[in-house]
Amino acid sequence: MEPVASLHGVGARRTALITRATGGTRVIDVLFHLPERFIDRSDCPSIAAAVPGEIATLTVDVVTHRKPEPGTRQPWRVQVTDGTGFAELAFFHNHQARSYRPGLKIVVSGKVERFRDTLTITHPKYIQPADGAAVPAIEPVWPLVADLRPSDFRAVAVQALAKIPELPEWHETRLLSRERWPGFAEALRALHAPRVHPDASVRARLAYDELLAHQIAVLWVRTRERARAGRPLTGDGTLRFQALARFGHPLTGSQTQVLAEIDADLAAPSRMLRLLQGDVGSGKTLVAVMAMLRAAEAGAQSAMMAPTETLARQHHRTLTKISPVPVGLLTGSVKGVARRNTLLGLQSGRIPLVVGTHALFQEGVAYRDLALAVIDEQHRFGVDQRLSLGSKGDATDILVMTATPIPRTLLLTQWGEMAVSRLSEKPAGRQAIRTSLHSLATMGDVTDALARALGRGDQVFWVCPMVAERELVDVAAAEARYRTLRLRFGDIVGLAHGQLDTEVRERALARFAAGETRLLVATTVIEVGVDVPAASVMVVEHAERFGLAQLHQLRGRVGRGAAASYCLLLHEDALNEAARRRLVLLRDTEDGFVIADEDFRIRGGGDLMGRRQSGQPGWRLADPVEHDGLLQMASRDAAHLLERDPKLASPRGKAIRLLLRMFERGAALRTLASG
Ligand code: ADP
Ligand code: MG
Repeated sequence: MEPVASLHGVGARRTALITRATGGTRVIDVLFHLPERFIDRSDCPSIAAAVPGEIATLTVDVVTHRKPEPGTRQPWRVQVTDGTGFAELAFFHNHQARSYRPGLKIVVSGKVERFRDTLTITHPKYIQPADGAAVPAIEPVWPLVADLRPSDFRAVAVQALAKIPELPEWHETRLLSRERWPGFAEALRALHAPRVHPDASVRARLAYDELLAHQIAVLWVRTRERARAGRPLTGDGTLRFQALARFGHPLTGSQTQVLAEIDADLAAPSRMLRLLQGDVGSGKTLVAVMAMLRAAEAGAQSAMMAPTETLARQHHRTLTKISPVPVGLLTGSVKGVARRNTLLGLQSGRIPLVVGTHALFQEGVAYRDLALAVIDEQHRFGVDQRLSLGSKGDATDILVMTATPIPRTLLLTQWGEMAVSRLSEKPAGRQAIRTSLHSLATMGDVTDALARALGRGDQVFWVCPMVAERELVDVAAAEARYRTLRLRFGDIVGLAHGQLDTEVRERALARFAAGETRLLVATTVIEVGVDVPAASVMVVEHAERFGLAQLHQLRGRVGRGAAASYCLLLHEDALNEAARRRLVLLRDTEDGFVIADEDFRIRGGGDLMGRRQSGQPGWRLADPVEHDGLLQMASRDAAHLLERDPKLASPRGKAIRLLLRMFERGAALRTLASG
């Protein structure tokens, strides 16, 4: 793939600008930088017929020049005619006007306006000799960066178009004719150097190219990972039986079913790559423990990785209560003797289950026989990172747990390499959470209601917003809220936020969990997984600043015990319509899937789990939300293709390899070659 610097007139400076604008350094990246709209200059009326307010392309003779009155801010004017009438071109600098000498025949294009009865084009976009290059009838407008002129980018794009080699078609002829799609090069030409306004099929063709490349890469990885030799893990159920006895409740129907799917994977000789999806409170942890104990029954080890220290410690407490065998803890803050003991235990195999943060998979941590890695709430990581977690064991099975109900679209794009299990039913005894909206102005009433709840012995989460960019202000606000509430309720009020030392924060959470404090002011450190069944009231301050999915996660922190639960969303008085709709949706439904889909739609999917967080190359031509239908098609297409041609050796397969390279999804192929 040639670099943009190979193009004429592109030096170091322009390469930098083009890279900033397009996000790539290759010639093909220029072509993947599609115009966002088109200006129609195809209207070529006579001066007499030109319509003010419209863009017109006129062929005219220059008649005279008019200087501005000295001392005024008037423009320089060039009077022109085409025999049907007169018009003026206005320029703010003489040097722009003076090159158009009287008698010259020119073509000009720009927006026509009427000033004092004179048709005027101010700073025409195009002025060229009538016998020179034609003004484009349709002008693409690219999203560009400062200092990169559209005309320069056009010149680069035109050169890039000329460099597209003869490429074999990678789509089936049947599909192309059914969808009326142009060829790849033809589609790019139709967008970057259009002769007519391109229709939607052009964009669709290119979007499909990208979606297909992505789906093939994802499927390729999945096939490879699954084919990789795993090891059958089986057990007699003794440890599980003991664990359930300690836990005190039977598995729910949903847990039983999901566990059967996991067991089948564990028992199979190939490697497990499974995503366990379950709404907040659906009981994923118990399922994970059962899976880990199966590894222990088979004489092997298992590790559970949590995204935060807080959550790791909490899982450790939970697992220690349930597991009949020892459970280790390994996080960044486990130091000294405790750390050495854990490391030794993992190496010798004395510790069969371990919980921790990513410290679990760092260098210097050796396992005797790691058979299963459980990753909790890891939706923020990309495919490569997920897979690297298995590297501590030869054939480590991987189970990822997520509470974020992932929209169907994202399952395909981000999780395509995983098989999916879903926990649909929540453990019995969970209460519906009554959610209500309150203006921040009614803070007095809210605290009065809290006084009554605390009087009944309830425990309360009070969540304050926390945004990285305004961390100091947010922390200050949370601390101020803590002081105010403490003035009213005394030392039953605790405080936990991300700026506190880990130890201080852990202690605050532990005291709240133990019921020593009963109102905890916190930022979103409690978002993922903090389990305090006695907490039955949640107050969210400035709820409008949170994402929907995030609010849903937060709300899941209450309603975990037997008591009736409440969630009070406090919001700014003046809410815009969209913000109100979001909060009302949250108030009216507890279905995480409905909320996730809605959130995904509202936010366009781009950033929810988009390029920044996933670590995957972003989307250039496709928008997985807008092109959802094409995505489903691409997914089926990819499956068929790899079924018939698993090594991409057929003519179509070879063409597809080119496609993957172009969209930078070729890395998947390389790993196949080496793996
Ligand atoms: P998740 O991690 O999916 O949000 P948890 O695993 O934390 O959910 O479980 C939520 C609550 O439900 C916990 O208090 C847990 O002890 C309880 N729970 C889980 N499974 C069962 C079950 N089968 N019967 C009764 N309670 C359960
Ligand atoms: Mg959890």
